[in-house]
Amino acid sequence: MTAPMLDEHERALDYLYGLLDGEDKARFEAHLAGCDGCTTYLSQTQQVIAQLRTEVGAMATGLAGRIVGESLEDEARQRRTVERFIAELESAPAPATS
Ligand SMILES: [Zn+2]
Repeated sequence: MTAPMLDEHERALDYLYGLLDGEDKARFEAHLAGCDGCTTYLSQTQQVIAQLRTEVGAMATGLAGRIVGESLEDEARQRRTVERFIAELESAPAPATS
């Protein structure tokens, strides 16, 4: 394959978010196996996402605590709040409706 791999690189984020399947996923994984750039990019992006989750989680806990008027000291409850908040973020629909 001599064609520029730009397309594959653009798929990196889709892959990360689990948006690729079947042939697309297989093709990207084949590309990933031989591409340091994508490997590095994906691991860096994963780190950023993990960091963001932590920060958003802490923020969500603080906000939710203020909204419900109590501090979420109960750890299990805190985690549920954070999980729900993140789930909502992730399920935010793409602007399909105009
Ligand atoms: Zn690549």
